[in-house]
Order: sequence, then C-alpha cells, then structure tokens
Amino acid sequence: MEIKNVGVVGAGTMGNGIAQVFAVSGYDVKIRDVGSAQLDRGMSTIQKSLGKLVEKGKLSEDNSKQALDRITTTTELSDLQGCDLVVEAIFENFEAKSSAFKELDGLLGPEAILASNTSSIDITRLAAVTKRPDRFIGMHFFNPVPLMSLVEVIRGLATSDATYETIRDSATKLGKTPVEVKDYPGFVSNRVLMPMINEAIFALFEGVASKEDIDTVMKLGMNHPMGPLTLADFIGLDVCLDILYVLYDGFRDPKYRPCPLLVKMVQAGRLGRKSGEGFYKY
Ligand code: NAD
Repeated sequence: MEIKNVGVVGAGTMGNGIAQVFAVSGYDVKIRDVGSAQLDRGMSTIQKSLGKLVEKGKLSEDNSKQALDRITTTTELSDLQGCDLVVEAIFENFEAKSSAFKELDGLLGPEAILASNTSSIDITRLAAVTKRPDRFIGMHFFNPVPLMSLVEVIRGLATSDATYETIRDSATKLGKTPVEVKDYPGFVSNRVLMPMINEAIFALFEGVASKEDIDTVMKLGMNHPMGPLTLADFIGLDVCLDILYVLYDGFRDPKYRPCPLLVKMVQAGRLGRKSGEGFYKY
C-alpha cells in the first residue's frame, strides 16, 4: 500500500518531530492536538528545527519551505479521516491512547494503518481496542526525531506482513534505519538501556563510586557519548522509573526492580533536567 497522507496525533516533543520528518520526505501531514496553543508550539519547534537544518546546509531553503507547506494542523480528530497512516504520539497513558485509537478506527478508511510511538505500552493490547489489529503497529522514534536515525518497528501479535513492510519502507523513506522488534516489554531499546541506567543508580546508591566517576567510566571506558546518570536526567527520572515498572511487571523478574534511590528521587520531585535537578543540578 502506498502512503501519501499522514496524520500525527499529538504535537509535543515527539509528535512535532515525527510530523517534520514525514513532511521533509514529501508526505502531506496533518497534526492534531487538543488545543491551538499546543499546535502553535509544535509548529514553532518545527520551524526552528528546519531553520537549523538549513543553516547547517543539510536542507535547502526551498525544501524547508515546501516541507512547511505540506503540514496543516487541526484540533479535530475527524480531520484525519482521509489519512493512509496515523502515527499517535500523545501522553504515555493507555486510556488516552486507546480512546484516540478507537475514534480513529471508526473514521479512517479500511486500508489505513494505525501506528503508536509508545515507549512502553503493549502494541498488541492497543491494537486489540481497534477492529484492525492486522493494520496496527508500533513505530518507535527517538528524541530528537529529526536527528536520531533509529525507528523500532514493533509487530503486535496480529500485525500483518503487509503492514510491517509498508511501515518499514516508510521509515526507510524518512532516511531512518528501521529495526524489526517483537512486542515484548521495553521492546529492545528500553529493555537494554533501562537495566543499565538502573545498575548505575545502584552503584551510586551502594557508594561504589561518585556520580561523576560512574559517568566517566561509561563515557571513556565504553565510548558512550553520555554517562548513564546524565542520560537518566535527560530522559527524566519519572520516565525511567515508569519504564522499569513496565519491565518489572511485564516479566515478573526481580532483575528489573527499580533502585530505591531512583524511587526516592522521583518522590522528591527531582526528575532530572526538566525539574532543574536530578543526579545533577541544571
Ligand atoms: P509530550 O508531553 O511532549 O506531548 C504530548 C502531546 O499530546 C501534548 O501536546 C498533548 O497536548 C497531546 N495530546 C494529549 N492527548 C491528546 C489527544 N487525545 N489528541 C491529540 N493530542 C493529544 O509527550 P512526548 O514526549 O512527545 O511523548 C509522546 C509519546 O511518545 C509517548 O507515548 C512517549 O512515551 C513516546 N516517546 C517519547 C520519547 C521522548 O524522548 N520524549 C521518546 C520515544 C517515545
């Protein structure tokens, strides 16, 4: 199936990036958010991001303008009716996502594909609230979307081969590298990343080394661009904790138990960069 019109639900951090990369690659994009303030913020982020790409010589002025012209915004979900693909990027909340998907399922054409950018909710469970679980898939982009080249393409239990191939090809057309992943807790990215971050927090908790030294070991010894505690602050400690609970509950395996220090930091409101303090002060 050929995708031409793409709907993006949610104009936040991920949604505006996703809309941008589709528009730059020649798709017509309609973004839906709940209010015009959110849509305006999303569009201004896209404008700034395109401007930077032009400045760096990665995109021509013309292509940037054409990409902007391909994006329209709306507060009405029903305006996404004619879309061939809708990528959902709203809050990480099952009820919110499933209610959006139920509504989309009722209004989109029978061939249209529904995709979720969820970082941790089961694709199979979300697909089951629709009448098109074969045309439902996970399309997990990474932040910042215009710069990060990975897309985890997550196949729910009922996702058809045709849906997978269409989404894999679209991700490739966006200039991304798609990776096929089955629908198990944390997919691959968070299943590998979060235990590493959690173990770094345990090392700090047990006094094995200082936070700076733990980060230095992973930067200089493993060639990671950022130490795990700095990365946890960047992602948000609440987000890290939520994902660890998803792994812990999903596998019922104590190896995913969150470090008590992480739990305390979230309770104290030290959420990382976004709250001004996490393992480091900002
Ligand atoms: P965000 O809070 O920046 O944006 C969410 C947006 O969704 C907000 O603008 C909100 O107004 C809007 N929204 C809420 N309900 C809506 C609805 N019913 N219809 C339309 N819009 C609605 O969140 P984000 O960081 O962009 O995360 C979005 C999704 O992407 C989540 O599922 C998250 O787990 C996933 N994700 C996030 C990251 C990241 O680094 N931020 C990375 C990968 C995946």
